[in-house]
Amino acid sequence: MMTLSQLLDRFPTDDECMAFLVKLRWPNGVRCPKCDSAKVYRLKGGKVWKWVCKHSKGGYRFSPLVGTIFENTNIPLRTWFQAIFLMTKAKKGVSALQIQRTLGLGSYRSAWYMCHRVRAAMQDAGFAGLMGGDGGVVEVDETYIGGEQKNRHASERVKFEGRGAVNHTPVIGAIARKGNVVCKVIENTSAKTLQGFVDETVADKVSLVAHDDASGYRHLRQTHASVRHSRGEYVRGNVHTANIDSFWSLLKRGIMGNFHQVSRAYLPLYLAEFSFRHNNRKTPNMFEAILRAC
Ligand SMILES: [Zn+2]
Repeated sequence: MMTLSQLLDRFPTDDECMAFLVKLRWPNGVRCPKCDSAKVYRLKGGKVWKWVCKHSKGGYRFSPLVGTIFENTNIPLRTWFQAIFLMTKAKKGVSALQIQRTLGLGSYRSAWYMCHRVRAAMQDAGFAGLMGGDGGVVEVDETYIGGEQKNRHASERVKFEGRGAVNHTPVIGAIARKGNVVCKVIENTSAKTLQGFVDETVADKVSLVAHDDASGYRHLRQTHASVRHSRGEYVRGNVHTANIDSFWSLLKRGIMGNFHQVSRAYLPLYLAEFSFRHNNRKTPNMFEAILRAC
């Protein structure tokens, strides 16, 4: 795993960042982002990162950043790389304010913007369809994010990150044991909603769906079993929800600890960030995995 000083050495200027992105995007040579033609040439001049597609009339000019989250910003690539790096390192997430301070950025707004764009890229890289993890078991559970806000840091900046605070928003998740997690914000916790989520995210062939005694899971079509939390039962054989519980706990500690509160509108982005980190926890180079999704 890369360290911060290795990152800074590897990418001393924006040019190295750009060269890296070009390689990552087109490992077999640059192609036109519009028509996929390989008949492209690079504009001359030392550090000009512009190509022209010969296929289209008039010659379509493009930057390697077209269609990426780095397009149309004045934020240097090197700053983006460092922010992404910090996001990969923080298990419980990192706030825009921390990014701004750590990188010495002049603008909180830029830090905030970067974090959200990166989360959106992580979201697009998400997937649905969980196979059973270890032993073919998937755990499902719903929880609530938000609620009581202590508002210890009532500064403008913190408020900005959390404007329109979430108030007890239901979230549902499914996790394959030793595997991936999928989660999303839901409108309500009706049986129809819970079952609908399981139908769209969990494969039919899993050997077991483990859940707690919420009645909404009673009619799942997959083989399923519950532990009765209401009766103090947490484990029965391989039936338990310990993995999704610990994912929720990390998510809540992260959201409460770093962001204090997040708005309902942005909550899906935070879910995407935490899921992405979980699902890529064994990826040797998470930094590169994020760049690929950008
Ligand atoms: Zn073209």
